[in-house]
Amino acid sequence: MTNLAQTPLSARLRSLVDTVQHNERTLRRFQNVELRLIGAQDFASFLDTLFRHLPKEFSLTGVTLWLDDRAPMLLELLEPDALDALDQPGLKTSREGGLAAQGLCEAGRPWLGRPIELNEPAHRAFFGKSGMPASAILLPLAAGDTVSGYLCLTSDDPERFGEGMGTDILERFASIVTASLDNVAHRERLKQLGMTDSLTGLANRRYFDERLREELMRAVRYGVPVACLFIDIDSFKRINDTYGHQTGDRALAAVAACVRQQVRLGDTVARYGGEEFAALLQGDRADALTVAERVRLAVERLALQDDHGERIALTVSIGVAARTMTGAPSDAAALCHAIIEEADRAMYLAKRNGRNRIEALVPADDDHASR
Ligand code: GH3
Ligand code: MG
Ligand code: MG
Repeated sequence: MTNLAQTPLSARLRSLVDTVQHNERTLRRFQNVELRLIGAQDFASFLDTLFRHLPKEFSLTGVTLWLDDRAPMLLELLEPDALDALDQPGLKTSREGGLAAQGLCEAGRPWLGRPIELNEPAHRAFFGKSGMPASAILLPLAAGDTVSGYLCLTSDDPERFGEGMGTDILERFASIVTASLDNVAHRERLKQLGMTDSLTGLANRRYFDERLREELMRAVRYGVPVACLFIDIDSFKRINDTYGHQTGDRALAAVAACVRQQVRLGDTVARYGGEEFAALLQGDRADALTVAERVRLAVERLALQDDHGERIALTVSIGVAARTMTGAPSDAAALCHAIIEEADRAMYLAKRNGRNRIEALVPADDDHASR
C-alpha cells in the first residue's frame, strides 16, 4: 500500500488531481468575484470589487484599471469631477497608459512577465510610485475590435505571471469585466437620464417602453423572438398592512433584485408600476416560461425578514407573452401595445387561477401573429 503510493505514477496522478482541484478552486473564487461584478449597481461598487475583493481573493499585490475616457459609454463616467469623487488611485485614464498598454498587448493578446524589463513610460503608466511588482499580467478589455480599457494584475511572486502560463481563465475573466463595465456604464447613464427607479435601482416604465419599441423593431426586422413578462407581487397590500410601509419598501427592493438576478445581463427589467415589474427577454415562449418559473421560485425562496427576524413570505404571479414575427418595422408600435396587453392579461389570469403561478395566453393564430 505504502509502496504503491510512492510509485512515480501515483505521484504524478496525485499531482494531476491536485492541479485539477486547484483549478476548480480558482474557478470558484473567480465566480464569486464575477457575480459581484455582474450584479454591480453602480460604478463605485464595480470598482470596489475590482480593487478590494479581487486582490484579496487572489493574493495579488495590486490591481490597476486603465479606461479609455474617449469611449462613448465611458465618457461621462470618467469626467474629471466624477473621477475625483471616486477617489480610486487604481483607476487610470492617461493617454500615455493606453498607448503603453496597446504597445504591450500585441494583436489584443494579454501581456505577462516582469515589469522590471519594461521601459520607463510603461511602468510609470501602470505601477506609478507604488513600487515595482515582481510579475504582472495586462489584459485587454475588448468587445469585438473595440478596446475600452486594460486590466493589470500584479504579484510579488516573480513566477506568478510568466511566459508559457495558461491565460484562459484570466481572459474569460477579462471578458466578464468588459461586459460588466458596459452594464454598469449603462446603468449610470440611465440614472443621469432620469430613467431609473430610485427605490429598486431598476429601469422605470418610460425606459422599458422605449426599449420594448427598439427591441420589437429589431425582432421584426430579423425575425427573432421576443418575450415579455409581467410580474406582480401577490397580496402586497397585506405586506404593507402587516409590517408597515418601510418593510414593504424593503420587500419591493428585494423582489426587484431577485428578478434581476434571474434574467440575462442584456435583458431589460423595469419597475412598471407600484408592486409590478416587467421584463423584456430575448427568446421564445419556452425560454420565457423557463425564466418565469425561475423568477417565481426565487421569490418564493427569498429569505426576507421583518424587524423581529420573522420570515416574510412573498410570492408573485407572472404573465408571459412571446412573439416571433416578420413584417415591417413600422408595425412595431402596434405590437408594443399588443404584447404588453397580452402579458398583463396573462398576469391577471394567474391571479384569478390562485396566485403564485405563471400563465401565458396562446393566441388563436399562435406566436406567428403577423405572418
Ligand atoms: P394582488 O395579489 O391582487 O396583486 O394584491 P395586491 O395587494 O398586491 O394588489 P393591490 O393592487 O390591491 O395593492 C398593491 C399595493 O402595493 C397597494 C400599494 O399600497 C402597494 N404599493 C405600491 N407601491 C408601493 C411602494 O412603493 N411601497 C410600498 N411599501 N407599497 C407600495
Ligand atoms: Mg399585487
Ligand atoms: Mg399590482
